[in-house]
Amino acid sequence: MTSNNDILFTRAQLTTPGGVNSPVRAFRSVGGTPRFITRAEGPYFWDADERRYIDYIGSWGPAIVGHAHPAVVKAVQDAAARGLSFGAPTEGEVLIAEEICKLVPSIEQVRLVSSGTEATMSALRLARGATGRDKIVKFEGCYHGHADSLLVKAGSGLLTFGNPTSSGVPADFVKHTLVLDYNNVAQLEEAFNNMGDEIACVIVEPVAGNMNLIRATPEFLQAMRRLCTKHGAVLIFDEVMSGFRVALGGAQALYQVTPDITALGKVIGGGLPVAAFGGRADLMQHMAPLGGVYQAGTLSGNPVAVAAGMTTLKLIQEADFYQHLSAQTLKLTQGLTNVAAQAGVAFCADAIGGMFGLYFSEKVPTTFAEMMATDKEQFNVFFHAMLDAGVYLAPSAFEAGFVSAQHNDEVIAATLAAAHGAFAKLA
Ligand code: PMP
Repeated sequence: MTSNNDILFTRAQLTTPGGVNSPVRAFRSVGGTPRFITRAEGPYFWDADERRYIDYIGSWGPAIVGHAHPAVVKAVQDAAARGLSFGAPTEGEVLIAEEICKLVPSIEQVRLVSSGTEATMSALRLARGATGRDKIVKFEGCYHGHADSLLVKAGSGLLTFGNPTSSGVPADFVKHTLVLDYNNVAQLEEAFNNMGDEIACVIVEPVAGNMNLIRATPEFLQAMRRLCTKHGAVLIFDEVMSGFRVALGGAQALYQVTPDITALGKVIGGGLPVAAFGGRADLMQHMAPLGGVYQAGTLSGNPVAVAAGMTTLKLIQEADFYQHLSAQTLKLTQGLTNVAAQAGVAFCADAIGGMFGLYFSEKVPTTFAEMMATDKEQFNVFFHAMLDAGVYLAPSAFEAGFVSAQHNDEVIAATLAAAHGAFAKLA
C-alpha cells in the first residue's frame, strides 16, 4: 500500500522546493520520506497514514506545555473571534511585554517580532546602531536565523573574517562577521585584544542547540561578559531556543551571566509566530520611533499569536513545572544511556531543563569539532529504527531534542522500549 506521506511528498515537491518550507524537515540528512503531520495532542502527533508518534521536536521548541493544550487553544479561539490583526497596539502586547520583563530581569524593554531570525537580525542592528561599530562576533555551530551577516563560517585564519555559508550572500555582507570557536576563551580574548574597539557585539547561544546540544562553560560566558563590558561591546544572548526551555529565566538565569540584549522566540509564541528582542532600556531607546535604529512588522505583536504566547508563559509558571520537565528529560536521557550501554553501543546524552542532546560518541562533546566527530551513520540508523517504532526524533544528528510537560512516565517508558530495539540494531 502506498503511504499518504509518499503521495504528499511527491506532490509537495512539484510546488515547493524540496517539498518543505524549512530545510531540515526534508529528511535530507537521514534519508527517507518526511512525515506529513495531520494533528497533534500532548506528547504525540499523527501522520497522514494515521500513525502516531511520540514527538521529541515539539515544533523545534515551542510545544513545551504539550501540543494543543486546552488553555492555549481556548485563548487562541477567543482571540481569533475578536479579530485576527489590527495594525494598531493592543493590551495583549502590553501584558506579554510586562510578563517577559518580569521573567527575564535583564530585559527592561522588549520589542515583539514574528520570528527568531527577525529578533537576532534586529538585535544586531541595534548593537551596531548603539555602538556606531560594524564588526560582530559569532561562534561556529551557533545558528541565529538566516540573516545575511549570520550565514557565515570561519575564514582561513583564526582571526580573519568569515565566508558565506549560503549562496546569495555577498562576501561583502559578511566581511564584518568574525567567527570564533565555541567555548574557546583564549581565542575570544585574542579577538578583543586585536580589535576590541571595533566590535559592536558578541552574539551567542548560551546553551547551543543548533549543533546538537552543547553547553557553554561558565568561564566562556563570564569571559564574554567581562570583555564586552571592558571594550564597550554589546553582549547578545540568543535565547530563541534556550529561553523558557532550560529554565524559567533562560540560560542567563542558570549561568548567572547578564547579557545586554536577549533574543527570544519559540516558547513565547506557544506555537504561533512570536519572537522578541529586549534588554537594557538605554539600549532599547535607540529603536524607532524613539531612536535611529529602524525595525518594523505588519504582524508584530499579532493578537492571536500573543494570546497563545501569553497563555503558555502562564502555564510554565505553575508550581514545579521545570522540576517536572527536567526530571522527565533526565529519565529519557539516563534511560537511553542505560539501554545503549546494555547493547554495547558507544553513546551518551545530556539534558538541561526540557532540552536534550544524543551523541554517538564515548563522551559528551564540548566543542563544534567534537560534535562533528560523532557517528552520524549510527545516528541515522537509530533515527529510522526509532521512527519505525513510533518515536519521532529530530531528523539530523546535529539538532537538539525537546521534551514537553506531557511526556509522562508512560511515554518515556514507551520510548525506552523502542530504544531497546533500535540500539540492538547498532550493536
Ligand atoms: N536562534 C536560535 C538559537 C534558533 O534556534 C533559531 C531557530 N531554530 C533561530 C534563532 C531562528 O528562529 P526562526 O526559525 O524563528 O527564524
